[in-house]
Amino acid sequence: MSDTQLVVIGAGPGGYAAAFYGADRGLKVALVDPAPNPGGVCLYRGCIPSKALLHIADVVNEAKHAEAWGVSFGAPKIDIDKVRGFKERVVTQLTGGVGQVAKLRKIDYIKGTAAFKDARSLEITGEDGKKSTLSFDHAIIATGSRPATVPGVSIDSPRVMDSTAALDLPDVPKSLLVVGGGYIGLELGSVYAALGSKVTVVEMTDGLLPGADRDLVNILAKRIESICAAVLLNTKVASVKEVKDGVSVTFEGQLPEGMAKEQTFDRVLVSVGRRPNSAVPGLDKTRVKVNQRGFIEVDEARGTAEPTIYAIGDVVGEPMLAHKASHEARVAVEAILGERVAFEPAAIPAVVFTDPEVAWCGLTENEAAKQKREVTVARFPWGASGRAITLDRTDGVTKLVIDPKTERILGVGIVGPGAGELISEAVVAVEMGATAEDLKLSIHPHPTLSETLMEAAEVFFGQSTHVYKPKRK
Ligand code: FAD
Ligand code: NAD
Repeated sequence: MSDTQLVVIGAGPGGYAAAFYGADRGLKVALVDPAPNPGGVCLYRGCIPSKALLHIADVVNEAKHAEAWGVSFGAPKIDIDKVRGFKERVVTQLTGGVGQVAKLRKIDYIKGTAAFKDARSLEITGEDGKKSTLSFDHAIIATGSRPATVPGVSIDSPRVMDSTAALDLPDVPKSLLVVGGGYIGLELGSVYAALGSKVTVVEMTDGLLPGADRDLVNILAKRIESICAAVLLNTKVASVKEVKDGVSVTFEGQLPEGMAKEQTFDRVLVSVGRRPNSAVPGLDKTRVKVNQRGFIEVDEARGTAEPTIYAIGDVVGEPMLAHKASHEARVAVEAILGERVAFEPAAIPAVVFTDPEVAWCGLTENEAAKQKREVTVARFPWGASGRAITLDRTDGVTKLVIDPKTERILGVGIVGPGAGELISEAVVAVEMGATAEDLKLSIHPHPTLSETLMEAAEVFFGQSTHVYKPKRK
């Protein structure tokens, strides 16, 4: 008999969700991770600390915005130690809570690093270096990902940070260069800008958030340009060297006229993507396969080529999002329990927690164009939303991507404050195969931003109460 029925390697939102669900379904479960409590990247150095800091940034921005309505709070005074303290309390509270829930579920939480001895057993190295063996019926690999580095840019200097170092908030640098205009660059760049840094973003492609629909990104880009010293597109960092009091950076690409190719910044944040942690020691002693991009290969039930081993989360592929990892966790556990399951969502929501937020799910306009799939797009501009006007935030759009024949909602994109909360209704609509009429006929509370979803459906029929746009004959 094995020591445990299920062992989960890595306690991020994929791993701990798998362990918890496995225990809820009656399995004897062990969960291995070096951290004091479950949480992984998301809770310790990802989603949660970044959102705590973005909340502070929102308050700073909102207070400034209030001047336009006759309410002034004065310039913010930033006590960086207290800001850091708040973020740390958030992390401790949540990871501690998750640790408690693991105990209540009688999960054997093993603090250590796992290596495969073979397809039925692990060697676990504890904090103190002591090694132990754990045999299992099934294992789920949920080892996540780590920041990607750029040769010549990610130099060994405390001034050149990855997201983990930036979340540690060493100080508020006078100037910060953000390399990579993706999720992390825009979220953490916004945090530092709100705290008072002069932020420059350098992005190698021709736009921020490559891949996302341009009509949504353009609205965010305007705002990012307004809070940053510069946003450099089609530009790369050729080299970085530490100099006295800063980091000297040489750019390569289309710089605005008059801008120097070499500039010095107090700090640099490198946020150019993440790499899967698939080099789990001893994996070569199993039949698990890793593809060319470094992701562990899995089937629709998240099974690997080794029948006793499953894999989920960032280590198996994109999108590298916490909620995708947690959902895969349930699929893998059910497959291990012998149920016929598959990971085949119609909509995985994506949210960029900037101001304004950008969120989308299901089919995007870009993907529809790539697939040469005919779609009708119904857009509701927030300038026509009563709620948006009361918030003085008409810089938003809600759009539905609709199949013109069946009138089914295939995808939804939203930009505007609160888009991340609004997208959940869209996920339910896409997953349930709702039609534009379903959304149109569902009464939404007034005045709320959620009405923009209903009114976008009304736009599709040329019948929006607040937008006069008759349907073309
Ligand atoms: P991870 O969370 O990466 O956890 C893997 C765990 O495995 C780690 O604790 C690691 O130490 C452990 N491990 C690795 N190897 C071993 C081993 N051999 N033995 C034992 N343990 C091991 N996603 C969102 O959905 N929303 C967000 O707002 C968001 N914000 C983010 C902000 C930042 C700054 C970053 C960096 C990421 C963010 N993400 C966000 C992405 C999200 O954090 C990841 O998608 C998610 O954490 C992946 O979960 P996971 O379970 O696959 O792995
Ligand atoms: P990303 O893939 O979102 O963005 C990286 C950006 O860097 C891209 O725009 C890319 O074109 C650019 N880039 C790459 N190499 C470059 C170079 N040498 N010079 C200039 N630009 C370069 O990656 P990220 O921002 O590091 O985030 C990693 C992942 O973590 C995300 O893809 C996402 O899956 C996850 N994440 C999610 C959230 C969220 O859900 N809100 C937040 C943070 C991170």
